Amino acid sequence: MNNVRVRFAPSPTGPLHIGGVRTALYNYLFAKKHNGTFILRIEDTDQTRYVANAEQYIVNAMEWCGIQFDEAPGKNEKFGPYRQSERKDIYKKYADELIKKGHAYYAFDTAEELDVERNKAEKNKTPFIYNHTTRQNLNNSISLSEEEVAKKITAGDKYVIRFKMYDKCFENEILTAKDLIRNEVSFKLFLLDDKVLFKSDGMPTYHLANIVDDHLMKISHVIRGEEWLPSLPLHLSLYNALDWNIPKFAHLPLILKPVGKGKLSKRDGDKLGFPVFPLEYTNKKDGKTSTGYREEGYLPEAFINMLALLGWNPGTEQEIFTLKELTDEFSLERVNKSGAKFSPEKTNWFNQQYLQAKDNKEVAKLFVKILEEKGIKSNPTYIQTVVGLVKERAVFIKDLWSLSDFFFISPTKHDTKASKKQWKQETGSLMQEVINVLKPIEDFSSENIEIILKEWITTKEIGYGKVMQPLRLSLVGALKGPNLFDIASMIGKETSIKRIENAINILK
Ligand code: GLU
Repeated sequence: MNNVRVRFAPSPTGPLHIGGVRTALYNYLFAKKHNGTFILRIEDTDQTRYVANAEQYIVNAMEWCGIQFDEAPGKNEKFGPYRQSERKDIYKKYADELIKKGHAYYAFDTAEELDVERNKAEKNKTPFIYNHTTRQNLNNSISLSEEEVAKKITAGDKYVIRFKMYDKCFENEILTAKDLIRNEVSFKLFLLDDKVLFKSDGMPTYHLANIVDDHLMKISHVIRGEEWLPSLPLHLSLYNALDWNIPKFAHLPLILKPVGKGKLSKRDGDKLGFPVFPLEYTNKKDGKTSTGYREEGYLPEAFINMLALLGWNPGTEQEIFTLKELTDEFSLERVNKSGAKFSPEKTNWFNQQYLQAKDNKEVAKLFVKILEEKGIKSNPTYIQTVVGLVKERAVFIKDLWSLSDFFFISPTKHDTKASKKQWKQETGSLMQEVINVLKPIEDFSSENIEIILKEWITTKEIGYGKVMQPLRLSLVGALKGPNLFDIASMIGKETSIKRIENAINILK
């Protein structure tokens, strides 16, 4: 495929939902697969919904995910600027061209006038639609004479420019279009309304700005969320009216709630306890902070892998993909038509897989940050060995702490239930004997401790558990953790003995 140019075109109205991240990801994968160009365009023409920090949030989120733009605001703006608010002057010309060609018209109707129409229609139990059935009777350049229109415009009357969606003479006309995911989609044009293209505040609407920019930026494929499918007939009609080449379209399926029906929302995340945003976000209006995948400790590679498979399937059983592998495998033909159910459990599973696959040194580097927050300094090799001993039980880096805290700090209390069960009357003196066994050991390696302790237990003819469980309680504070001889060896002879003495004192 030649000259693939795709764009991610978010509106900076708040944090990016994971659905938006997936749209960006699929655009990126498609571009990279075809040696194409991936573009970020900021669609900020709706000033009423504009949120100042949202653009930076989008950029930061993409950076965390490892998805790079080839062209973006401030980067290779070949057909720039790439922020629509900075392109204001470009759009009017095309609205005028559409008027000249008879595909669009001025509409002077005030909000009050339109309300009157709405009320009238409501009384007749029909919705009010500004279209081929009503436009002749409304206040616009179709119903008014040329002189009247000119007079209004010179007088500075406010107007919008509407697209003449459909003319009555084509009754029953159906527009059929090809979507790369859904194949053929058809729309009944006569049911559609005359959408506003240009607003009275001098700004284009999304529809006009979107198709003008896709055209001027030479976008070859429009890959976007399913919620834009209803806009497709308008967009195609606009391309036709302007005599422009039409890009290929692909509308991605929705991401659905884990339970119940419908689109995954922030509320689902709040209710079930998982983030729906890539990064933490604070709403400036109400000061409320929503957590993000980054802050919850997900690895970006795992997050991206999970999103890639949420709506796309490789056609094989393979689930774990690097970004490079995804790029090689991705195709729009393998994107599902129906919605994809989000699964928080599966997301955790991906994180666990990536954490297990990471080498201990790398994991240790991430774990150091958590240790530092807890005020713990330890040497890198020690941390790395600890990671190697406990990593297999961790889903998140942060889990490593509860799995390994006893490698860094002595227990201050001992699990009550376990103590009751394992610490008997005679246990104190038995543990004193264990101290005496440990004391003379010179080579305090795990293997050596194991041989010596086991030998002693055998000659003493006591149950293995009778020694090992209270010993674990003493060293760890609970009946958890990896191999006990490994633990003893790691914390060293002196600390091991101190912890046993401590337990004897506390649990007697
Ligand atoms: N600005 C639109 C959005 O935020 C983009 C739609 C499109 O990609 O055409 O979803």
